[in-house]
Amino acid sequence: MSTTRTTIAFIGLGHMGGPMAANLVKAGFDVAAFDLMPAALEQARAAGAGIAASAREAVKGAQVVISMLPASRHVEGLYLGEQGILPAVEDGALVIDCSTIAPASARKVAEAAALRGVAMIDAPVSGGTAGAAAGTLTFIVGGETDALERARPVLSAMGKNIFHMGAAGAGQVAKLCNNMALGVIMAATGEAIALGVANGLDASTLSKMMAVSTSRSWATEVCNPWPGVLEKAPASRAYEGGFGNDLMLKDMGLAAEAAMSVGASIPLGELARNLYAMNSQAGRGGLDFSSVVKLLLRAGTEH
Ligand code: NAD
Repeated sequence: MSTTRTTIAFIGLGHMGGPMAANLVKAGFDVAAFDLMPAALEQARAAGAGIAASAREAVKGAQVVISMLPASRHVEGLYLGEQGILPAVEDGALVIDCSTIAPASARKVAEAAALRGVAMIDAPVSGGTAGAAAGTLTFIVGGETDALERARPVLSAMGKNIFHMGAAGAGQVAKLCNNMALGVIMAATGEAIALGVANGLDASTLSKMMAVSTSRSWATEVCNPWPGVLEKAPASRAYEGGFGNDLMLKDMGLAAEAAMSVGASIPLGELARNLYAMNSQAGRGGLDFSSVVKLLLRAGTEH
């Protein structure tokens, strides 16, 4: 009996998509990869993926299509634009968008896919570039249960947790809630450490205490914003790599839009969004978002 291997079209091979596609190759899927950047394509080729000349070519013959793009406009353009791939996706294929985008955009693309007879889920991720490389991402899913069950073997090759949040767009809403809380917690943690240092405390000892006390969080334990406290945190390599300030700013903006759409109040989220906007204006948009702490330093404690 012969077994047919599943072919997956993977579009968007950046910080996250590149290692995710590599994990699919490792798990035995045939991957047809496409990105606008030649360097990203070369890395995918080195990881064992097949390279497509265009997104339309990548989806030819693919049973599953995955996209991992920066923002809503890229995802809407990819599927629904003039050269959009939705008409080229195979009948009966499954589409998984892992980008973090506006819930309304996710619903719009999923509705267009349904009209075309193609199942689609939104499956944004948490876990960062380290989780993408290690295959330990959390997938936060919106869409039909049947579609998620079809996606499960593919998602399991790239992550270890899958949460079904509800119908199309619900994965994006949940992801925005998570990132809004993270953005607030990072700014609050940076502010607290900066206050301690301004009062003569050692940042490492203060952080170690906080990491086992009631202000414990991912910001104290994994991505501490103060340089030298955690060797592997972006702060200890001049805030390079990690999760870009401008991606956090985008997510906080999406959270604000989601709040306005239902009349919800998010006072801390809005305050923190402005801090990330100020950090971007200060020239740190491309650095890790924990560099927001630099806005909060007292003169003489700059790093
Ligand atoms: P990135 O900018 O590194 O990668 C995006 C890639 O998409 C780029 O290589 C770009 O060339 C490509 N691209 C853009 N438009 C395209 C198109 N039309 N066709 C083909 N390729 C196209 O971004 P990233 O850090 O990989 O993030 C991707 C998404 O994941 C974002 O929505 C981000 O918010 C989310 N996310 C990122 C992280 C993180 O730690 N970086 C964590 C969780 C979620």
